[in-house]
Amino acid sequence: MSASRHPALSATDPELASFVAAEEVLQAETLRLIPSENYVSAAVLEASGTVLQNKYSEGYPGRRYYEGQQNIDRVEALAVERAKGLFGVEHANVQPYSGSPANLAVYLAFAKPGDTVMGMALPMGGHLTHGWGVSATGSWFRGVQYGVQPGTGLIDYDAVRDLALAERPKIIFCGGTALPRTIDFAAFASIAEEAGSVLVADVAHIAGLIAGGAHPSPAGHVDVISTTTHKTLRGPRGAMLMCREEHAKAIDKAVFPGLQGGPHNQTTAGIAVALHEAAQPSFTAYAHQVVANAKALAAALLERGFDLVSGGTDNHLILIDLTGKGVPGKTAAKALDRAGIVVNYNTVPFDPRKPFDPSGVRIGTPSLTSRGLGVAHMPAVAEWISRAVDAAAKGDEAVLAVVRAEVADLMAAFPAPGLPLS
Ligand SMILES: *Cc1c(COP(=O)(O)O)cnc(C)c1O
Repeated sequence: MSASRHPALSATDPELASFVAAEEVLQAETLRLIPSENYVSAAVLEASGTVLQNKYSEGYPGRRYYEGQQNIDRVEALAVERAKGLFGVEHANVQPYSGSPANLAVYLAFAKPGDTVMGMALPMGGHLTHGWGVSATGSWFRGVQYGVQPGTGLIDYDAVRDLALAERPKIIFCGGTALPRTIDFAAFASIAEEAGSVLVADVAHIAGLIAGGAHPSPAGHVDVISTTTHKTLRGPRGAMLMCREEHAKAIDKAVFPGLQGGPHNQTTAGIAVALHEAAQPSFTAYAHQVVANAKALAAALLERGFDLVSGGTDNHLILIDLTGKGVPGKTAAKALDRAGIVVNYNTVPFDPRKPFDPSGVRIGTPSLTSRGLGVAHMPAVAEWISRAVDAAAKGDEAVLAVVRAEVADLMAAFPAPGLPLS
């Protein structure tokens, strides 16, 4: 497969080419449920592998430190215009190398080392870069953290307000990596205003849902929107920072020269293509289908006795607490992997177990929806998960092998974007 698909690579470096080919097979045959992953289109894949890669472009369109930018400037300006149009923002910076550096640029723009910053705690569903201790953001800044309510698994906005008013953080982050429910950006905005804080919506997970109108937009509520481009947005690995004009200079200066050197122009091109795709009516349909599939999958899991954090989902993501099934998250995740169902183990709020061996698994529907699976397929997906988790509890490898074959069978009927047909 690889020789015809990547002829130059296969000729030059057959060993590496064989790894890529194996990954293509893996991504084609498995049911990929990691909610931060997706399949990019063939067009995004092509744009990301172009000779734009060969160009150094420190600076911004029209203000570069290197000559020969006539084409690169058009690529970046197009990506910026498309980001502004799609998200309804005044300013966009498409240069951050990924979500974590994008967030670091926000700190550089608005805070000094030692300042208090506030975000959701990592084990509650926040991100490392929201001031968690092991991250630079938690050691160079004083991170204070909010969580969710024990019973409901929902953000307690009154508690967030109390903490913000007590601590007066320079920056408040909302958004996270394991939040199955809608984020109330207006509520965060009123809290940030009262506390005198810069409010950042980190929509890395839900950017595609926002673009497609399947989650409310933070635009108009927050000072800065930070997002990756490679999750529900279906672009290449990268990130964007978007803001009102008043913060444009601070954000741009923080990204370059504050934090980065030359932008990855081939990635900028891929982002531009993804933003174009996300502006089409078909992407609106995609975003709504992602949510419909997640709700159907959640319902089917509940029917099979699974305990879901917050009782279900409003978006693309489901957090399963496996305590009642008697299987640790890691054991379940590894068994599911052997069954051709790729998930990640994850802490659940107030998890009594350790982060490296937590009680939950996190799943989502962006990838399977990109392949065309619909609501009607979700009971089968839930049934496979249920059989695999039960098999994990009993150590029954034969069941996992059967599920793997059934999964591969269904996936063969739903070719993935950007991958060879078989
Ligand atoms: C994925 C994610 C990031 C980090 O993105 P990377 O590209 O992995 O650095 C930041 N914030 C949130 C909320 C995320 O989900």
